[in-house]
Amino acid sequence: MSAAPHEEILADADRGRPVLEAIGITKHYRVGVGKFKRGTVHAAEDISLALYPGAVTAVVGESGSGKSTLTRMLARTQHLTAGELLFEGREVGAQKAPDQDYRRAVQLVLQDPFASLNPTHTVRYILSRPLQIHGLAGDDIQETVLDLLRRVALEPAEQFIDKFPHELSGGQRQRVSIARSLAVQPRVLIADEPVSMLDVSIRLGVLNLLADLRDHERIAILYVTHDIASARYLADTIMVMYAGRVVEVAPAAAMTSRPAHPYTKLLLSAAPDPETEEKTWLGESGAPPSLVDPPTGCRFHPRCPFAMDVCRTEAPPSFPVEDGHAAECWLLDPARAEAAATARSLAGPVDRGTPADPADPVEPAGRPA
Ligand code: SF4
Repeated sequence: MSAAPHEEILADADRGRPVLEAIGITKHYRVGVGKFKRGTVHAAEDISLALYPGAVTAVVGESGSGKSTLTRMLARTQHLTAGELLFEGREVGAQKAPDQDYRRAVQLVLQDPFASLNPTHTVRYILSRPLQIHGLAGDDIQETVLDLLRRVALEPAEQFIDKFPHELSGGQRQRVSIARSLAVQPRVLIADEPVSMLDVSIRLGVLNLLADLRDHERIAILYVTHDIASARYLADTIMVMYAGRVVEVAPAAAMTSRPAHPYTKLLLSAAPDPETEEKTWLGESGAPPSLVDPPTGCRFHPRCPFAMDVCRTEAPPSFPVEDGHAAECWLLDPARAEAAATARSLAGPVDRGTPADPADPVEPAGRPA
């Protein structure tokens, strides 16, 4: 069977071999629902992606979209329910705990830098431990630690090496957390909402640090965020997730200037725009569905103003939009052009960022402050 359009985009042969590749990975959790019943949380389903050296892929979605489940599967802190992971072209046993090589090569940067650093240890200890564990300390461990601090722009490094986490700002703590990941010479950084707990004024510095690591150290980066504006700023490719599925994939500029999926338009409409005080569509469009009992057909149909009959019964496949751009939406099915036109006209006018025709562009989201 040939790959779906979004899988072909994410496995782009022009960019060489991916460092880390996921093929149809799925995660279900068994949970209690009510007193005696058990149910299944469909947390992430049939996700394919490829991470390339020197490139940032952003995963964007609301809470409950499956972003964090995806990061846990890629970091292999959670076993897969189905699908495969390939590291440098080799299948890794996704049902087993990762070996030391994988742990070293694929590093996770967490959202809360204060919780991820032991408050009783100095920066020197925090950065020395991974070097010692992996035999990477070199002849002069102090100089290696100072180099790590310089790589994350904590300078003069000598002023930071003996500080405790509580003596650092949020941005400085996140830089120490990234330096700890860099200590083991990773090939892949999975950054799970790395700036969402930082003051707006210091977010840009951390995003620029990630961009430097991509450009100068050729690290493959997965940037997970709910903020599509920051994804546009940093990423080369954006994947939009909704209710456990990838609904749209595109180069970052195309995603924000020519979104094809109604949910992507909703996210863009919610991005802050200082030039307008209009109410956005997001506030009126309901909440994400329960993943224990997700909607039939397209999971977005209860919130979608363009929903057609088919949307309620059949899950849309991935349709190509343009070069490098694909989306899961029946409006893009050439065989349903007439029904789609009717759905658009019935939806009527919508607020800024959600033009009635999904082919219409919206203004690019602003860059983060
Ligand atoms: Fe889903 Fe249908 Fe809306 Fe497309 S038009 S997003 S398939 S509900």
